[in-house]
Amino acid sequence: MAGLTLVDLTKRYGGATAVSNVSITLNDGELLSLLGPSGCGKTTTLRMIGGFITPDEGDILIDGQSIVRLPPERRPTAMVFQRYALWPHMTVYDNIAFGLQLRNKSREEIRKTVDDALVLTGLPGKEKRYPHQLSGGEAQRVALARALVLEPRILLLDEPLSNLDAQLRLRMRDEIRNIQQRVNITTVFVTHDQEEALAIADRIGVMNGGHLEQLASPDEIYTQPATLFVASFIGNMNLLPGSITDGAVQCGLLGFAIPQDARLSGSTREAIIAVRPEELVLDGHGPYHGQVTQSINLGDHKLLVVDAGEQLVRVAVAREDAVPRGTAVNFSARRYHVYEDGVLRGTAVSNDTA
Ligand code: ATP
Repeated sequence: MAGLTLVDLTKRYGGATAVSNVSITLNDGELLSLLGPSGCGKTTTLRMIGGFITPDEGDILIDGQSIVRLPPERRPTAMVFQRYALWPHMTVYDNIAFGLQLRNKSREEIRKTVDDALVLTGLPGKEKRYPHQLSGGEAQRVALARALVLEPRILLLDEPLSNLDAQLRLRMRDEIRNIQQRVNITTVFVTHDQEEALAIADRIGVMNGGHLEQLASPDEIYTQPATLFVASFIGNMNLLPGSITDGAVQCGLLGFAIPQDARLSGSTREAIIAVRPEELVLDGHGPYHGQVTQSINLGDHKLLVVDAGEQLVRVAVAREDAVPRGTAVNFSARRYHVYEDGVLRGTAVSNDTA
């Protein structure tokens, strides 16, 4: 049975639509990352699941039961907020125990549940501290422990790592994923950080302007972006506008064969070629030429900016490759996508381009 189902979820504010017809089905134990730029509707979607915002249309089902009319406290969900929202006058132990006390659990039971949660989140020895005596990472762990002791069916995380510095962010990201998999809890994780989403999620829902642009595995989102928005939002991508001619898209001096199985609508003569820098390779026999205008060192690899006449393209090369400014290069594309009307129409892999 599906863990969580959103059916045509819609929320409007005045004339503006914050979330528009979002439908998602999540399996038990799955971690979904809702990803998108500021204002795309991801927090509104999360808050509708938690019951803090009432949708104008649509339904929310957990294990097949509609929960859309239940108040937050009666939903089998628990939310972890960006700013932890711990009670400052309570110790770590009491913060975690509070929800259980409200449920009239016995002292014994509460002690055991809280102790287990402290171990799970790596907090033993911190139970007598107050929130102001905790680091950001510890505070976030307490917030997570406090949510998990309630044994929700669905865990909702609203940018839980955004207040942490870069290194701690990475560590907590892995910890959250680890805990989520150990407890096997269905989770929705809101972030605007694509790297975080790619690293942590089973599936990513990319949102834009209230719409769900694509719902797919991190791998598919990266290698088969369904829309031009996803192609431009995720990772590094060369986007080359061109015109459709006989069997090819001509982008300035660069011609890209249209793959045979591409499904162009035929409604326009314009298309955009999207190609990742790592799919462009320096190749003495390659069909494209240009001149290196810049070499950007990114630590584990370099990006060359190549002037190919009417287009500037970025080509990834290995860290140790020294290709100075002014070098004339030939290159080829191992894999590229054709977008028409903002939608993916076909993908070419190197056999098509040879
Ligand atoms: P961020 O990453 O900045 O938090 P988000 O993707 O979570 O952005 P939402 O907070 O869901 O975006 O907001 C979606 C849209 O709805 C935005 O345009 C926002 O301005 C609007 N919005 C959100 N809450 C309200 C409100 N209470 N009244 C009016 N408009 C709102």
